[in-house]
Parts: sequence; C-alpha cells; structure tokens
Amino acid sequence: MNESLRSTVITGIGELVTNTPAGGQPGSFAAMSDAALVIEGDRVAWTGPGASAPEADDALDVGGRAVLPGFVDSHAHLVFAGERSAEFAARMAGQSYAAGGIRATVAATRAASDEELRAGLRRLASEMLRQGTTTFECKSGYGLTVRDEARSLAIAAELTPEVTYLGAHVVPAEFAADPAGYVALACGEMLEACAPYARWVDVFCERGAFGADAARAILAAGKARGLLPRVHANQLGPGPGVSVAVEAGAASADHCTFLTDADIDALASSGTVATLLPGAEFGTRQPYPDARRLLDAGVTVALATDCNPGSSYTSSMPFCVALAVRDMRMTAAEAVWSATAGGARALRRDDVGCLVPGARADLVILDAPSHAYLAYRPGVPLVRAVWKSGRMVAGEQLTSA
Ligand SMILES: [Zn+2]
Repeated sequence: MNESLRSTVITGIGELVTNTPAGGQPGSFAAMSDAALVIEGDRVAWTGPGASAPEADDALDVGGRAVLPGFVDSHAHLVFAGERSAEFAARMAGQSYAAGGIRATVAATRAASDEELRAGLRRLASEMLRQGTTTFECKSGYGLTVRDEARSLAIAAELTPEVTYLGAHVVPAEFAADPAGYVALACGEMLEACAPYARWVDVFCERGAFGADAARAILAAGKARGLLPRVHANQLGPGPGVSVAVEAGAASADHCTFLTDADIDALASSGTVATLLPGAEFGTRQPYPDARRLLDAGVTVALATDCNPGSSYTSSMPFCVALAVRDMRMTAAEAVWSATAGGARALRRDDVGCLVPGARADLVILDAPSHAYLAYRPGVPLVRAVWKSGRMVAGEQLTSA
C-alpha cells in the first residue's frame, strides 16, 4: 500500500465484476461474490474476498450490492444542436431511415454558438455519468466545414480524451455536385485543423455516405497525421466498411449489422473490435446485428450507445445491455463485458473497463445484487452511485461505516 495516498475500502460487495479471471488473462467476464475492493488515490489497489479486506483510511459498506467497472461508451455523437423527434415519430409511423437526416442536424449545428454546443455536450455527458458511464468517446461530424468540425472537436476535447474526427460523416449539401472535392477537403485542410484536438479518425462507409475508396483515402490521411482509425461499417446494408476497417488496422468497426461470412472471418482474425450499437436498431426499427454469430466466431464485441439526435438518442449503457440480452441473445455477462471491457478494447485502453489493481477506480454501485439485473429490470434506474478516478461523482451516498 502507498502510504501517501488516501485509501478507501469498499466492503459488503454482493458481486464484484472484475473482468479479470483469477490467475487468468483479461478478456472475458469474471466476477466474485462477497468481495471487497480497495482504492488508493485514483486507482484500484486491491480486490479479493471480503473476509480478508485490508484496513484503509475510509470504509464504505455497500450492503450486498453489485459493483461493476464504469461503463465505457466507445461510440457517441454528442456535439450538435437541434433535435429530430419529428423524424423519429415519422419513422415509427412507417417511414424508412436514410443517412441524409444528418443534414438537418448539420444546419442547426452550424447556426449554434460555441456556448450552445458546449452546454448540449455537458448535459449529455452528465446524463451519461449518472447512468454509470465513466469513459466516453465523442465524434464530430455535424459541422462539415473546417471551422465547425474544428470547434466541435475542441469542445469535445474539454470533456474527454477520446475525441474522434468524423468530417467524413456525410457529404454536405454544398458539395452534392462535387463529392470528390469534399473528400479532398476532409483529407486536407479540415484534417489539419482538426487533428490537434483528436485521437481518432472515423468515416461513415455506407451507401449514401462514403464508398470504399474515399473511406480508405480518409483513413490513410488521418493515420499520416497521427490519428488512429475506426469506421462506421455495414449499418444500413452489406458493403465494404468492415473490410476497409480491418485493412486499415482500425481499433473498431462500428454497427456491423449486415455482415457476410468473409466480414466475420476478417474481424475474427484481426485486432478490430466489432462495436454493436443496438440503440440505432431500436431507433430505426432495423434488424439487430447478429451478436451470437460474431461471438461464436471469436470476434471481440463491444456495446455502445451511438448517442446522436437522429437514429439513437439514448445515452444509457444499461438500456443497451438490456437490448443486447433481450434482442441480440447475448448473455448478461457477455453484454456487461462488452459494455465495459469491450468498450475499452475498442478504444485501445487497458486502464478502464476492468477492476484490477492498477486500473482506474471507475466503478458503478448498483441497487441490485448482480449485473444480471441490468437486463432483468430494464428501464429501472439501478445505478446507485458512480465513482470516477477514486471519487464518488454521481448518485446517492451510501452510509459510510
Ligand atoms: Zn455513429
């Protein structure tokens, strides 16, 4: 134990989800019952049986509740203005979803002030935190001009290190007659202005957005500028997105709703995570991705919200876990792993998504005895308290011993 850091021992943990099997490699769900956990500073210092918990400066008994790693939401679009509830209602009444609805949000985002965009992002980030998300990724993609993409990313970077340049979200209306000109801008001046704020480069590789060649060019330009690739792939139909992602060494191919056997093989034999976004299928009434087929083939699967005002306006990882269990036939353990450790893999992070000595002390205390309640009691606010970097940051205080 490090004497100079304030320590807290959390006892009475009915189920502690560590995502690290005792003596085994991280990579699959793992949990222990009747456990305790010690935090020192901003890190986990110890986990083990409650009966052998060491002393600490402070003590908290959670009364048999489950403790999970904080959720890692690896796919979200949070810098925007306006809303599209009318479009959602029309879709629920039978109209189909096309990529073009993004343009309505682009117009509202361009017209908004920095303060308005910042306030919207802060509202969503705080909503996420209250629901247990302690790490989130945030993309641009609703500015689509050099100025509006760069300011979107600068605002996102105020709240998260996981910032993604998505200038290649759709071709904006003013470039409708010259899509190649827009790709050149996204690979050139726009990328130059955005790269200082971003860790990742992303492209919406889909019919109605960007084809394989444009997607390759955008990812290559981003990589040359030091950004790491991730791809929106195979959401609306079969296409080249997954193969472009794997070929580029992307950390993640996101959506993966329409996959061929070759896509599955490519993912299984690569380091590219398949990030499934069931909120988008819920919000567009499309078929859900076939999670079982991916898991059975050995693909690493992450779950994320895709929080955005068009296709998936949820910020709730517990909701996505419930959808994954009910509608995608993932087990509750698989879904919780994918929403925590899987998201961490999709962001190439090893300090979050698990509760092991050395990991960030980012955790969720549930008003429930086990992780399975997230799917068993859908829609119920089970997140009682959220700790980030060793401090309680949201929720209700439990009685300290
Ligand atoms: Zn998305």
